Amino acid sequence: MLTKCCSLSENDVCRHEIAGVVTEVGSDVKGFKVGDHVGVGTYVNSCRDCENCNSSLENHCPRSVFTFNGIDTDGTVTKGGYSTHIVVHERYGSTILTDCANKIL
Ligand SMILES: [Zn+2]
Repeated sequence: MLTKCCSLSENDVCRHEIAGVVTEVGSDVKGFKVGDHVGVGTYVNSCRDCENCNSSLENHCPRSVFTFNGIDTDGTVTKGGYSTHIVVHERYGSTILTDCANKIL
């Protein structure tokens, strides 16, 4: 049983579906670097500019890309945790502390 991870108690819920290690970052990425442990939640991208996105309701964004079975901007179908690699906008990645990552990766 996981009783304490990322400062969460056993009653808290981790908010990511996939956990991995950053292998590449885009030139505009500020929040992550290669080697960081990261979690990815329900979506990997959205327009990040509509009323829904600006209200933290990206799941209602007409251009959101879901982590699993979504149509990505390049036309490919996302495969979520079945993927060997995943591309996610930094807005939808969550830092996982190293101590926690060692328990779940
Ligand atoms: Zn949007």
